[in-house]
Amino acid sequence: MYAAWFGCVAGCPARLSLSEVVYRCPSCGGLLEVVHDTQALRARSAAAWMKLFDERWLRTTWPYGSGVWGKKEWVAPHLDDDNVVSLLEGGTNLFWAERYGRSIGLSDLWIKQCGTSHTGSFKDLGMTVLVSCVKQMIADGRPIRALACASTGDTSAALAAYGAAAGIPVVVLLPEAKISAAQLVQPLANGAIVCSLATDFDGCMRVVQRLTEDPTIYLANSMNSLRVEGQKTIAVELVQQFDWAIPDWVLVPGGNLGNVSAIAKGFLQLQELGIIDRLPRLVCCQAEHANPLYRAYQRAKAAGRAMQPEDFAPITATPTLASAIQIGDPVSRGKAITALARFDGVVEQASEAELADAVARADRTGMFNCPHTGVALACLEKLVKAGTIAPRDRVVVISTAHGLKFTEFKTRYHEGTLDFPSAHANHPVRMDADPDAVVARLHALLDASA
Ligand SMILES: *Cc1c(COP(=O)(O)O)cnc(C)c1O
Ligand SMILES: [Zn+2]
Repeated sequence: MYAAWFGCVAGCPARLSLSEVVYRCPSCGGLLEVVHDTQALRARSAAAWMKLFDERWLRTTWPYGSGVWGKKEWVAPHLDDDNVVSLLEGGTNLFWAERYGRSIGLSDLWIKQCGTSHTGSFKDLGMTVLVSCVKQMIADGRPIRALACASTGDTSAALAAYGAAAGIPVVVLLPEAKISAAQLVQPLANGAIVCSLATDFDGCMRVVQRLTEDPTIYLANSMNSLRVEGQKTIAVELVQQFDWAIPDWVLVPGGNLGNVSAIAKGFLQLQELGIIDRLPRLVCCQAEHANPLYRAYQRAKAAGRAMQPEDFAPITATPTLASAIQIGDPVSRGKAITALARFDGVVEQASEAELADAVARADRTGMFNCPHTGVALACLEKLVKAGTIAPRDRVVVISTAHGLKFTEFKTRYHEGTLDFPSAHANHPVRMDADPDAVVARLHALLDASA
């Protein structure tokens, strides 16, 4: 009843089956996107969609209890339920960050905790869709031997887990010494073939593109638009969690720039199907060491007009604590520039010290943030200070990974061994285990902090 296909982002008439092994438009070489039969989806009313999605929300009827597969008709309607590979992704916490919000001058700040997920990052959302589609292709008789990706750590962890759950071999290409220990051990534990290459992410990307010229090795990077269909459910899900109300702002850290466009796609689909009647403003948050989109945004601003593809120039990204977004030549920049234009978007950046201190300030209010979320929080703080975001605006920050994947960063921050002073470092207090001495010391410490 519902149908979807690959179309060309640049507008070529190409219309390809979601079961084709194809990553780019055969006519112009541009990126593809999944196009849904909106007419068919409109046959069900907005109220009926909301009711259906609410009935499925986090229940156990396969596969609809997953935050992604609860929206299956909007995501990948062609899949047999038997070929869905789900580890119950999505359905993540959206909480009111009351104390942190107040501390930076906001009364209605929410954090969408997308990293509280199977492999500890929001990449699970897209990977469940991609691996399910490949399982469907294999069931349909396509000769696919393996899944492959280049990664800054989180994509490879998600691919390895979903590939292992499906029983499909996985190859991951990682930049040597540029990912955390947790991120490296994840694909190893899931039995993937892990290649550690003496290059950066952009170098790994060049290798995987060569590897996947062989159509039996399926490319799982985000230029593969199947993943976008899973990532876009972030938008649908957070609107659902607000009882179908729309926030004013959504901030997300950006590297390869697939996610900012995926979130935009989710909101646009909600609008097309009559569930929302306006769009939030989007903020793409970049690390200063990997900021090609921020530079393009500044160039356009200096020229007094909206950002265009011509404003963009790739850079060589330098090491950042936000290692998952250390990307200088993002594949989805075109989609991101279009999305930001449509959503009255903003691009902001954060330095290493700014992102680390923002993490620490928010952690002091009960969170446990990863450095990428820190980039988004630091950008948020700047936009509030600048008056761009108003005190009563409803703001959602997309937290993209779990802090426990980045304990080296957090440890070094609190030890004070990063390249800059840690404004909010907290040290363990060494004491002899003498009860009276410990009690006296603790009273002194509590008095000092009161
Ligand atoms: C992938 C990733 C991002 C950025 O997403 P892009 O689509 O590459 O812009 C941000 N944070 C984390 C933790 C990620 O893994
Ligand atoms: Zn095209």
